Amino acid sequence: MTVGVLALQGDFREHADVLRALGSDVVLVRRPEELAGVNGLVIPGGESSVMDKLTRMFGLAEPLRAAVTAGLPVYGTCAGLIMLADTVLDGISGQQSIGGLDISVRRNAFGSQTASFETDLDIPALGSPAVHAVFIRAPVVDTVGPRATALATLADGRCVAVEQGNLLGTSFHPEITGEYRFHEYFLKKVHRAGFGS
Ligand code: GLN
Repeated sequence: MTVGVLALQGDFREHADVLRALGSDVVLVRRPEELAGVNGLVIPGGESSVMDKLTRMFGLAEPLRAAVTAGLPVYGTCAGLIMLADTVLDGISGQQSIGGLDISVRRNAFGSQTASFETDLDIPALGSPAVHAVFIRAPVVDTVGPRATALATLADGRCVAVEQGNLLGTSFHPEITGEYRFHEYFLKKVHRAGFGS
């Protein structure tokens, strides 16, 4: 299985390292031709407004939308989650997303960079122990529509991880904490989907 990592901006190297450690072949995706051959895709954390501009500039926005619609498994962390949301609240003027997840997300929901924090989350889909989650200028999922399912919530009830068919998204960054279970969970989707094979 070949997994692409959108590599226009953000912490794509960290995702590539986790995916390689789990035995996947990794392709860094910067052009539509590189997207064409992958069986799954990770959209990293970074800055969603910049990622949005770059995907459009590099001619990737429409191919990404088409791939999501066709069933490509995609996992987005933080800015990547924002890119996968159907609705982006507090986006920079004209900001677009790829969409696919039936959710609205609120950018920078916890405040500025200095309001970044870490916490442990019980995530039934991943079993125990709890997931140590790092939130960096993170979004929250404001509304979970009927097609999406919440996977994790904070103690105050706010949703920070969702799943919908082949799509997976987290407000936080498992790729930087040595937490491999989300990537393993995603790779199971990639195997099951058999996209492109
Ligand atoms: N605040 C960023 C955004 O709006 C996301 C931050 C992150 O990916 N760590 O895109």
